[in-house]
Amino acid sequence: MLKFLNTVLILLMFMVSQFIYCQDTYHRNTSADIQHYTFNLSLNDDTNEIIGEAIINVHFNNQVNEFNLDLIAKSETFGMEVTGVFEDSTIVDYTYEANKLKIIPTKDATKQKIFTIQYHGIPERGLVIDTTKFGQRSFFGDNWPNLARHWLPSVDHPYDKASIEFRITAPAHYDVIATGEKIEESNLGNGLKLTTYKEPAPVAMKVVTIGVTEFASKLLDQVYDTQVSAWVYPENRLDGFSDYGVATKVLKYFIDSVGPYSYAKLANMQAKTQWGGLENAGTISYFENSVTGKNEVEGLIAHEIAHQWFGNSATENDWNHVWLSEGFATYFAILYQESVYGDEKRKEELALDRQEILAYYKKNPSPIVDASIKDPMKVLSTNTYQKGGWVLNMLRHKLGDKLFWKGIRTYYTRYQNANVMTIDFQNEMEIVSGQNLDSFFQQWIFTKGYPEIKWEWIYKKGKVTIEILQVQDFHTFQFPLEVAIVKNGAIKIETVLISTKTKSVVIESETKPDTVILDPNLWLLFEEK
Ligand SMILES: [Zn+2]
Repeated sequence: MLKFLNTVLILLMFMVSQFIYCQDTYHRNTSADIQHYTFNLSLNDDTNEIIGEAIINVHFNNQVNEFNLDLIAKSETFGMEVTGVFEDSTIVDYTYEANKLKIIPTKDATKQKIFTIQYHGIPERGLVIDTTKFGQRSFFGDNWPNLARHWLPSVDHPYDKASIEFRITAPAHYDVIATGEKIEESNLGNGLKLTTYKEPAPVAMKVVTIGVTEFASKLLDQVYDTQVSAWVYPENRLDGFSDYGVATKVLKYFIDSVGPYSYAKLANMQAKTQWGGLENAGTISYFENSVTGKNEVEGLIAHEIAHQWFGNSATENDWNHVWLSEGFATYFAILYQESVYGDEKRKEELALDRQEILAYYKKNPSPIVDASIKDPMKVLSTNTYQKGGWVLNMLRHKLGDKLFWKGIRTYYTRYQNANVMTIDFQNEMEIVSGQNLDSFFQQWIFTKGYPEIKWEWIYKKGKVTIEILQVQDFHTFQFPLEVAIVKNGAIKIETVLISTKTKSVVIESETKPDTVILDPNLWLLFEEK
């Protein structure tokens, strides 16, 4: 009976945790933990074929029969062919089907094993081999979200992060940059050059990269102990150094306000990328036309640098919780801009974001964490970016600046170089604030929509009465609401707590106001009906 009860309890706990975590469909191997990747890659000028060797250090918690890596197999033109798999220097069995390289480790109790995979092929995606807008041949890693498997055998999911080393052999006329610190640059004597970069911090495959083309590069500054550099096309040299120069100021802001930076360097790279910017750990890619010489991408740079803390260092453990990356980068870019340009900038950005959220919701009435999404390419949306950002803005208002920032710093300290779920963030904010934030996270993250408010006010005998009605029928939201009474240009603001579908708010006022405004300072995501 006890045993049966235990089973039921375990089953119940499992179901509850599934509900809380809303896990995506990637098959996780809980017995194996990748510690380190070394990728030896040979690139050339004649073909787009790459020759690769991956050396992978794995820690096994249990004896396992097999161990899987993601790698897109060759079919017609594109994909990778595997020519050998070794455990230490012993050949081991493997199968390679459905883009999974299944390795059969030797049967011994060794917990740390090193596998070597030899492979070659032409990547269709992930490593973009093309010419720059100035016609120079170029190779750029562009992995997000799960394109690393097109060129790097790996556990291509952010739940398993590892340190990484790239050893790139390429014709000597190329300048080579990659994730990590440069530790070797050697002419090999036959027209080839070996360049090696090593990142000791654990990184997810979605944010590792290389950049190989002709670059102009410059050390912009050193912020505390981190070197900040710009890598741009030689044709864009001065404009690029100028546009990317703001990165030093942004980096200092985030170190000072959130916590220590996690990576070996901060390079800002003009690149061929399918994104506007891609937050690759310590080696950020910005779209080719980001360089104009007019400082037009400060917001983008702030977004990608914010990701170094949120998404790269504290990484979502599950694609359905990607708002911990994108919502945070969205809001922390706004916070940086608020610190430089003032609160009007915050309001301006949030007003624009609100318009997008309302328009998106009309077509996609779904919550921020949406367990129905199975394809990581589809997790990027106005919900995970703009609405995620707005949720942080509301959390800041609910807790006040002091507790909000304390909570953010505590959360980052705890999860630096680790993985997180929404519940982990909630827990940290609860511990710091002493508040139960269950209904806050439930209604804003796991429930669709926002309050749709119909309201009116009347003035009678020294009292302003505001009737507020939440017209949406699926959920009654609870929130603090600022109400502004405006008379002759003077504004009096009161905060009221709304927790019911209808609410009458009475505010004393000696004379009839000129007008009444709901949420004058943009602290509540709602739609006026
Ligand atoms: Zn982003």
